[in-house]
Amino acid sequence: MQLFEMIQSMGHEQVVLCSDLTTKLRGVICIHNTSLGPSLGGTRMWKYSSDEEAITDALRLSRGMTYKAAVSGVNLGGGKAVIIGDPRIDKSEAMFRAYGRMVESLRGRYITAEDVGTTVRDMEWIRMETKYVAGVGGTGGSGDPSPITALGVFSGMKASAKFAWGSDSLKGKRVVIQGAGNVASNLAEHLAHEGAHIFVSDIYEDKAAAVAERTGATVIASNEVFTTDCDILSPNALGAILNDDTIPQLTCAIVCGGANNQLKDEHKHAHMIRERNIIYAPDYVVNSGGLMNVASEVEGYDRAKVMRQAEGIYDITMNILATAKNRNILTIDASNAIAEERIEKVRHVHGTYIGSPTIRGV
Ligand code: NAD
Repeated sequence: MQLFEMIQSMGHEQVVLCSDLTTKLRGVICIHNTSLGPSLGGTRMWKYSSDEEAITDALRLSRGMTYKAAVSGVNLGGGKAVIIGDPRIDKSEAMFRAYGRMVESLRGRYITAEDVGTTVRDMEWIRMETKYVAGVGGTGGSGDPSPITALGVFSGMKASAKFAWGSDSLKGKRVVIQGAGNVASNLAEHLAHEGAHIFVSDIYEDKAAAVAERTGATVIASNEVFTTDCDILSPNALGAILNDDTIPQLTCAIVCGGANNQLKDEHKHAHMIRERNIIYAPDYVVNSGGLMNVASEVEGYDRAKVMRQAEGIYDITMNILATAKNRNILTIDASNAIAEERIEKVRHVHGTYIGSPTIRGV
């Protein structure tokens, strides 16, 4: 692995390897970019098959966080960490406290939170050693982010509808929702309230049935998600579902959902979607409500403010879709460019010295 080549080509500032023999901690903290503020991103615990796989994952995920924060107007940088191990059997209080001390040693350059394989309990162990952790339960904590994520997805969907059809009303629109989990069920409620025709699918039929009961949605089978005639497809389950097999089957005019990394190959599949004249609302933009929620915890959690921010995903999405159209580029390229532009401008603003110099002998 050409580590420095990789770090420099992806633009990272710092990579920290964390090791503690006694607690069997092996972790990697990646700080991608702190131009906008302290880096924030969850700690993932996973049974990686090699150190290289773990480092690559942390590098890739932390870079994604920089873009998500930048495009959503949050004053945070991008960071992410991984701990190598099986989350079902390798966890201990001592391991997470040892890891918490590593986070503390960065003095706020990196703020952690939950991710795949870590829970509120793990964050509470980390909290015993550092204050640089969000997503902890109790007073002042931001709690379950999925209602805010869903509000953001709904706002991005309305903006996409306005862009496609000239009206942001979703009344009567046929929306297929893949997944019936936390984000999907909250999204379905917004859609039901708006008068959309909802179709929902989950690999667990009881979960889809529960959403259907609450919202009047029609349950469809997992293999009908891409073929059911609809106006909007909303992926809210797993990643890589927009690929060589599924894109030719799509019947929708818009793809807009909360799932991370929906495009299996970012550029190839974004191109394929555009060639089919389907609008793709970038996933990391419309699902950034979750980040807004946890970011608010850093400044002092304010639910009303976070909801306003999530509703602002409407304007952010509209700007991205319009930019893509005007510049004749992919929507994903437009959002990346808008994120990079914000980082550069803020970096420039911060270039002005505003401190109080100490001049000796004057
Ligand atoms: P969740 O686990 O509550 O829900 C996911 C659901 O998808 C589960 O019910 C699962 O059974 C179902 N599922 C899995 N494979 C499926 C398939 N092939 N077909 C149909 N259903 C399938 O998770 P969540 O918190 O609702 O998150 C959903 C997605 O949104 C994930 O990709 C997550 O990374 C992303 N996301 C979530 C948040 C948040 O605030 N929770 C924030 C940003 C992004």
